[in-house]
Amino acid sequence: MSIIYSKKYNLHNNPNHIENKNRTEAILNILHEKGIIKHLEVYKPKRAKIDDLKKVHELHYINYIKEFCKKGGGYLDFDTYATSYTYDVASLAAGGAIEASKLIINGKKWVYSISRPPGHHATKNKAMGFCIFNNLAIGLENLRNKFKNFLILDFDLHYGNGTAEIYYEDPSVLYISIHQDPKTIFPSCGFIDEIGKNEGEGYNINIPMPPNSDDNDYIWILSEIIPPIIDDFKPEIILIEAGFDAHKRDPLGSINLTEKFYAWIAKFLRKFNLPIMCVLEGGYNLKALKYSNLMFILYSNPELLGMDQFSNLRILDGFKEPKKVKIRVKKLYSEIKSIISNFFKI
Ligand SMILES: [Zn+2]
Repeated sequence: MSIIYSKKYNLHNNPNHIENKNRTEAILNILHEKGIIKHLEVYKPKRAKIDDLKKVHELHYINYIKEFCKKGGGYLDFDTYATSYTYDVASLAAGGAIEASKLIINGKKWVYSISRPPGHHATKNKAMGFCIFNNLAIGLENLRNKFKNFLILDFDLHYGNGTAEIYYEDPSVLYISIHQDPKTIFPSCGFIDEIGKNEGEGYNINIPMPPNSDDNDYIWILSEIIPPIIDDFKPEIILIEAGFDAHKRDPLGSINLTEKFYAWIAKFLRKFNLPIMCVLEGGYNLKALKYSNLMFILYSNPELLGMDQFSNLRILDGFKEPKKVKIRVKKLYSEIKSIISNFFKI
C-alpha cells in the first residue's frame, strides 16, 4: 500500500476546533509506533494547480478562498474555518488525491491520501462542514483518461453532499454513501429518494442508517447492496471517502461502529480485485481515529496482516458475518432495494 502525506497539513490549524492538526498526526504516529510505516511506501503531495481545482470548482470560488485566506482567514460558514495558510494547505490536500491518482495510473493497487482539511462536503462553489476543496473529486478528474466507470463509496458518518452534488447528473460516477440518518444529523440531506438527476438518475445511492446502528448493521447492509451493484455497474476503480466519525467514541454522531468495522471494510473491498483510491475525511476522537486507521490500513495489506509481528493486531480472527440485524435496518434495506432495483440488478 502507498500512502500520501505531508507535515504541511499541520499549517491549517485551529486548536479550538475538532478538525485540527492532531488528527493526521495521530494517524501517522500510530503507524510509526506499531512499526507499520516502514512497510508502506510514503509519498509527498504537490499543491494542486488552479487548472486542477477548476475541473471541479468554479473559478470565482477558488479566487474567493484565495483572497479570504490572503486577508488572514476567519470562518467561511458557521463551522468551517480558514487561516492565512488554508488556501495553500487545501490545495495540497487536493494535490494528495492527485498524487494518489497518479500512483493508480502507474499501476498501484491501493493508495491512501491521509490529508486534511477534508473534502466531501465542499461543493463546486461552497465551503462547508470543515471542507474547502473536494479532494476526492479533484483526484478522480485526473483519472478520466484511464477509466470510464467510477464507483465512490463514502462511509463517513455524514452524507458527502459535496461529492454527491458534483456527480449528481453524471452516470459515469456512481456515488454510494452510508451515513447516519440525515433527519438526525448534518447536512440534513442524503435520503434514499435522492437518486441523481437527468443522465445521472439512479447513480446516487444513499444508505441512511438509524442512530445506534453498529458493526453488524453496517456489515450486513453493505454486504447485501455493494456486491450486486459492482457486478452490474462494473466499475474499473473504487474510490473511498474514508471517514472515521461513525465510530462509537466519536463526539459528532450516534453511530456505534468499532475498529472491527474498519478492518472488515478493507478486507471486503479487497475482494473485488479493483484498484482502490482512498482519501481521508472525518474522524474526531483521536484514539478512535488512529486505531480505526491502523485497522483499515492493516487489513488492506494482506502481506502485513500475515506477518507474525502483527498477529496481535488481527481483530477479525474468528469474526463471523452477521446473520441477524435490527428490524429497522432490514426494513431500510427493502426500501432502498425497491428504489435501486429500477436501475441495477439487485
Ligand atoms: Zn463526517
